Amino acid sequence: MSKWHLIVDVANCTNCNVCVLACHDEHVDNDFPGYAGAMPKHGHNWINIKSKERGATPMMDIAFLPVLCQHCDNAPCMDRARDGAISKRADGIVIIDPVKAKGQKQIVDACPYDAVWWNEEKEIPQAWIFDAHLLDDGWKEPRAATVCATGAIRAVKMDDAAFARTIAEEGLEELHPEYGTKPRVMYKNLHRYNKVFIGGSVEAEADGNVDCVKGAHVTLTKDGAKIAETFTDVYGDFKFDKLDPDSGDYTLDIAAEGHPAKSVNVTLGESVYAGEVRV
Ligand code: SF4
Ligand code: SF4
Repeated sequence: MSKWHLIVDVANCTNCNVCVLACHDEHVDNDFPGYAGAMPKHGHNWINIKSKERGATPMMDIAFLPVLCQHCDNAPCMDRARDGAISKRADGIVIIDPVKAKGQKQIVDACPYDAVWWNEEKEIPQAWIFDAHLLDDGWKEPRAATVCATGAIRAVKMDDAAFARTIAEEGLEELHPEYGTKPRVMYKNLHRYNKVFIGGSVEAEADGNVDCVKGAHVTLTKDGAKIAETFTDVYGDFKFDKLDPDSGDYTLDIAAEGHPAKSVNVTLGESVYAGEVRV
């Protein structure tokens, strides 16, 4: 059976917040009985854009991560809800019933993604409902997907086997696989948010001038084992990405034609720019 899935491409999110505004526009002051109570004007971000800076000048980047209800198939919020206040629809969407969930603040704490917001005035837990009310009214995708100009949010409806192929083809990942919640939201280029890099620049002196070295061979090793290799670009820059934060000591071995080999040791916590390495 076809079910809804959301694909979020971290590399394409520009933090424009249009999806956030569309969600507010849809829900502030609007009750959708059976789906969601009205969102308060202030304090709620059912679509929440987090950010992460990596590296240091001149090699740095920033990533934006939209976090929203993951519509988990193995949802901890459902386990903590009483009186059937949370249900999973046949199309995969999780709905917190705005009437049955009244007073059930424990649902907020049960969500490991911090995707549930407490409505103090109505005394109900609330989360992004995948615009189920619009989809049931004939919409082809939720508003967040329709307004995202960069394609950072895509909604697809397909059976789980077909989506498993999409996951493999596009290299999609769960935000927190360690939670074991089987989310229906999957992320692309997640390394931009949760992994780190080692980068640097190679330069050489000739005839009194210092120039970038293009095509230098750079090898990254850890505990004597080769992790990866690359070549410097036209600016002499190199970068090894998708490394684990706080993963310890690494060595960069740099070989540039016509120059003596050079090694640099790096201890990796957050992303590191190893500086300009003179060969
Ligand atoms: S609309 Fe798209 S690009 Fe803008 S914040 Fe939302 S996900 Fe990111
Ligand atoms: S993300 Fe949180 S609120 Fe949404 S289904 Fe999963 S556990 Fe429940």
